[in-house]
Formats: sequence, C-alpha cells, structure tokens
Amino acid sequence: MQLNVKNLKVSYGNIKALHGLDFSIDAGEIVTIIGANGAGKSTTLRAISRMVPSESGSVIEFEGKDVLSYTTDKVVTRLGISHVPEGRRIFGNLTVTENLTLACFARKDTEQIETDKKWVFDLFPRLEERKNQISGTLSGGEQQMLAVGRGYLSGRKIMILDEPSMGLAPLLMLEMFDALKEINRHGTTILLVEQNARLALKFAQRGYVIEHGKLVLEGPADKLLDDP
Ligand code: ADP
Ligand code: ADP
Repeated sequence: MQLNVKNLKVSYGNIKALHGLDFSIDAGEIVTIIGANGAGKSTTLRAISRMVPSESGSVIEFEGKDVLSYTTDKVVTRLGISHVPEGRRIFGNLTVTENLTLACFARKDTEQIETDKKWVFDLFPRLEERKNQISGTLSGGEQQMLAVGRGYLSGRKIMILDEPSMGLAPLLMLEMFDALKEINRHGTTILLVEQNARLALKFAQRGYVIEHGKLVLEGPADKLLDDP
C-alpha cells in the first residue's frame, strides 16, 4: 500500500466536506475518484497535498510516512506527491521552458532534471514546439499539459490530478490521457478525480464513487462502468 487514507474528515467552517473517507492505492496503480459536483473530490486531493487541514482522527500515510506531519511544500519535495489542481497553475508571463525549469527548483539532481525535462517534451510534442513561447499565450489545453508537465517534474512518486480533462478539445483530451498513461508506465502512481465518470473509468484501473463527502462504491473500473 503506497497511499493509505483512513477516516479523512475535512470541514470548511461549518460546511462538512468529507465525512471520514477510507481508501488506499498501491504503487503503480491508476485510480479515480468520481462523483457529482460538490461531492468532495477536490477537497480529498487538497487534504492529501495539505492545502486544506484535516480534522483530528484523520490518517493519511504515504510510503509509511505520516503525510499530516508535512507542510504543503514538503509533501511535494520530500514525499514526491504532486498535485495538479484545477485551473492550470502556471506562470503565464514566463516561457514554457522557464515554467518547467521552475518546477524543479527544489531538486538537486541536475543531470536527472535535464533528462526529465527532455522526457516531458517527448510526452507533449506540442510543448516542445512552443518551448520559447510565453505560456499565457498557449491554448487552454496546452496550458493544462504544461501544468501536468510541471507536476511531473516536481513530484514523481504519485500525481494527483483534478479534472485534467476539463475544457480540453477531444483531440487534446486523448493526448492528455495518453501522456498520463505513459507517465504511469514510467513508474508514477496516478490518482485523478473527474466529473466525467465514463472517461475516468476508461482510463483508470480502479475507481471510488464519492457522494456528499462519503465513499459509496469501490471497484475495478470496468465493473463500475457496467453499473447503471
Ligand atoms: P468536488 O470537487 O467534488 O466538486 P469539493 O471538494 O470542491 O467538491 O467541495 C465539497 C464541498 O465543500 C462542497 O459543498 C463545496 O461547496 C465545499 N467547498 C469546497 N471548497 C470550499 C471552500 N474553499 N470554502 C467553503 N466551502 C468549500
Ligand atoms: P471544485 O468543484 O473543483 O472545487 P469549484 O468551481 O467548485 O471547483 O470551486 C472553485 C473555487 O471555489 C475553489 O477554490 C473552491 O475552494 C472554492 N469554493 C467552492 N465551493 C465554495 C464555497 N461553498 N464557498 C467558498 N468557496 C468555495
């Protein structure tokens, strides 16, 4: 078990967003959490990356380490957990290459960084073609690819992705999911949340369904796809 989440509870003021989630992910898996808008998908990812605090009694372990004792920055740099939130967090006034370079700021493995950057360009040829372009002038889909590339370079043990398909044209969506599959084959565990359940279940091996802050169903993706 690489990631182990037990009794995860999160509130925003008086709003209880998560009511005690239990789930776990093995190294190398592709897992999705699906559910309606407002069910608690984004909050689950924010809790793992420590962008929101979890209530006492919550347990999040990654490779046996207590994630809740790490700060947001250290979750990425020490544990290798990268969070690609919704909304393409990139530096819009910097070039594509500069964005990728900055994502490596905490790393010291200089040679490996160069190899990894080249690999990201192999994954996303669109980014390589535009490597000196100011990122804010890329299309929405290309910005999303850049955000994923940045995530990969910053933390490569597990990537947690919030609606990576959001707003992508069908062709770009295929490219995005192909790239994520390739990232996974290269050794990175993937957890993604999606409102588009059908799409997510075609991509993932296993899925959880969340409703009103509670997990209500779990199973192999093909079984969940068959479930009416
Ligand atoms: P999902 O990602 O499944 O759409 P969220 O995790 O965003 O769901 O939201 C779960 C619940 O928490 C919803 O009721 C939502 O309105 C609430 N919520 C999310 N973010 C905030 C926030 N920053 N402040 C207050 N309430 C929030
Ligand atoms: P998601 O469903 O992925 O959380 P939303 O579009 O619902 O995305 O939320 C966008 C932003 O608004 C997020 O930063 C979220 O934290 C915040 N937000 C969501 N619901 C609420 C809420 N009820 N009150 C305050 N902020 C919220």
